[in-house]
This record gives sequence, C-alpha cells and structure tokens, in this order.
Amino acid sequence: MTAGERSTAMRFPAYFAPGKAPVLSFEIYPPKTEKAMRDLDDALPRLVALKPTFITVTYGALGSTRERTLDVVERIRREYAVETASHITCVGASRGDVDRILERLRAASIENVVALRGDPPRGESAFVPVEGGFAHANELVEHIRGRGGFGIAVAGYPEKHVEAPDFETDLRNLKRKVEAGADCVITQLFFDNAHYFRFVERARELGIRVPIVPGILPAQSLGQVRRMTSLCGATIPPRLERALETAAPDEKAMEDVGVRWATEQCLELIERGAPGLHFFVLNRAGQMERILPAIRPSLEARLGPGA
Ligand code: FAD
Repeated sequence: MTAGERSTAMRFPAYFAPGKAPVLSFEIYPPKTEKAMRDLDDALPRLVALKPTFITVTYGALGSTRERTLDVVERIRREYAVETASHITCVGASRGDVDRILERLRAASIENVVALRGDPPRGESAFVPVEGGFAHANELVEHIRGRGGFGIAVAGYPEKHVEAPDFETDLRNLKRKVEAGADCVITQLFFDNAHYFRFVERARELGIRVPIVPGILPAQSLGQVRRMTSLCGATIPPRLERALETAAPDEKAMEDVGVRWATEQCLELIERGAPGLHFFVLNRAGQMERILPAIRPSLEARLGPGA
C-alpha cells in the first residue's frame, strides 16, 4: 500500500483475534512547537518503517492540544496509511464535546479510541468533571459504546493508580470500565514485569477477560525515569537505577541502558504470553530501531493472543 492510500480500518478486537502475532503499538504525543513538529516529522517515517500495528496519539487537557491530537491522528493515517487511535479524556469535556470529537474521528475513518479520565489540570489536586461531563473513565466508555462504531481501549495500573486507596479497589474500578464496553486494557509503564504478571493474574481472577497490553517505556535518562515514575506511581527497580546512575551523565550510555532493559522486559513478556506491546516512544525513533530488531523474531514466532 502506498502512503496516502487508505487502509481498511479494523477495531481493537480484530487485532487481538486468535492466530495473530502479538500487537505492536506506539504512543506519541502531539507536538507543541514548530521545532517539535519537525522532530516528529523526522521520527515518523522511521517509526512507521518498524511496522507498528497502530499508533496512538495522546490527548492533553487544553483545547489547542486537543485539536493537535486530532490533526496528528488524521495526518498519520492519511500520509502513512498506518492505523491510528486517538486518546480522549473527560477533562473539561461535556457529552456534546465528546460527540463532536467522535464525529470528527468517524469522518476521518478513525475506528479506535483510548478512553481516559485524564489528570486534574496543573495546580489542582482533584479531578472535577464539567457539568454534564464524566466523573470517571467508565462513564466515558459507556457513552462511546452507546454511540457505537469505535474500538475502545482503557488504562490499567499494574502498580495501582496514584489516587486509588489500594490495588484491589483499583482493579474493581478497572472492571467497571471493561463492563462498560472496553475491548482491551493498555497498562501504565512499569519496569519490573512481576507487577504486570500479578496484575493480569488478579484481573483474570476478578473476571476481566479482555487483552491486557503491557505499556513499555524505554528509559532515556535517570532524570526522566525519576520524573515519570514520581508522576504515575511506578517504581524503579534498584538494578535499573544503579545502571542509570553508573551511566549518567553520558546520554548515549543511559539510552543504551534503556534499550537493554526494555528489550529484556519485552522478551520475557512475549515469552509469557502478553497479547501485545505498547511503547511510549516519546516521539523518538532511535531506541525503537534497536529494540524492535532484537524482539521481532520472538514476536513473529508467537501467534495468538495470550494474557
Ligand atoms: P479512571 O479509570 O476514571 O480512574 C481514576 C481513579 O478513579 C482511579 O484511582 C480509579 O481507581 C478510580 N475510579 C475509577 N472509576 C471509578 C468509579 N466509577 N468510582 C469511583 N472511583 C473510580 N492522560 C491524559 O491526559 N491524556 C492521555 O492521552 C493519556 N493517555 C494515557 C495512556 C495510558 C496507556 C495510560 C496508562 C494513561 C494515560 N493517561 C493520559 C493518564 C490518565 O489520564 C491518568 O492516569 C488519570 O489520572 C486516570 O485516568 P483513567 O482513565 O485511568 O481514570
């Protein structure tokens, strides 16, 4: 298929059908500046060459960021003929706003969304829905499912969501999202696979049957890993922290640590049946160009959904 031609869109359940190789997805964010947009334009052909099943684009709280999300989602699909999914959050969004976004996605033949509550705006400690909006992601999922026509992914937290009182309560809330109509779960980043395996096991015991796709962040630097884990509540294994400390401040050496760590994580996840891998690529291609060749044979050797 040449760039510019439209592929036939599929919804999430079809990607995870039995007999298919594990799903490979990349998550990017909409650039905020012209320079960042040029960087993404450089990275995109390289990321697309790695043959992801689909690319998802995150969604910010502000109106301008939302427009950029939709623009980027549409553009990637149009120019690269790669399936894309738009993230969509409840922040500042009424039901009417969500419907308008869904209409725009539908018009662009985008068939999948990642439905999230979103974080409270900077400076605010608690999430407050707009009048007539959604308090939790399960309400958003229910609304989108009611409208029909989209595959829906939701977020899951192997180390518990930061606001949840405990792991089990958070899992019960994940179940609400699945019961509301989510087709699959994409997890928050984690650096120790044991958290993912425990999460999947408990989810299955609770009756959550949909695919649970691990979210992988190739570490770039010690500062980045500390910043991101402090925001999302994930932990840094001491061995990874020591390796990054030893490599710092050499950027290339820290990236090498990130590549090796992510590759090891992925190989074990594939071997133990993860239904796919979702990479937080942060709009960069370099590390992915090293990780993918190392895991591709294992990915292709394993057919059919697992976890
Ligand atoms: P929810 O599922 O609503 O959960 C939020 C909290 O409320 C949890 O503690 C949960 O246990 C609790 N809860 C859930 N449902 C109920 C209920 N019915 N009653 C009582 N308590 C409940 N953020 C963005 O702004 N834009 C993005 O594009 C984005 N993409 C993401 C992609 C992935 C893969 C992941 C893992 C996260 C992403 N996030 C994004 C972050 C996400 O928005 C935050 O983690 C947010 O704080 C929670 O969103 P959620 O959809 O998990 O919310």
